[in-house]
Amino acid sequence: MNSNVQAKNPGTLSIALGELEGRLNEVLKEVRRLRNQARTLEEENQRLRAFMYSPLEGENGRQQLLRLYQEGFHVCPLHFARVRDGQGCLFCEGFLEKKGAFPYG
Ligand SMILES: [Zn+2]
Repeated sequence: MNSNVQAKNPGTLSIALGELEGRLNEVLKEVRRLRNQARTLEEENQRLRAFMYSPLEGENGRQQLLRLYQEGFHVCPLHFARVRDGQGCLFCEGFLEKKGAFPYG
């Protein structure tokens, strides 16, 4: 069937192949972009983890959790270490209260 198409319109196949090649190149470009983005995010994640898991001098576990929360990260088991995007989290606050670390509760 394909050879029929080719026989009737000799240029059609090479045009189709050209288009396909163009699309493949776009997809490959996108894959490279996403791979670079993933690498950047991975590095950022590692830096954040190192920062988050290192307690400040004289800081106990509760104070460390409270500090992480105040710096904008979830400390609740449900979303631990994710960015809160400026939103309060009832799970975090409940968790901190249970740990005796939440000062407003
Ligand atoms: Zn939370």
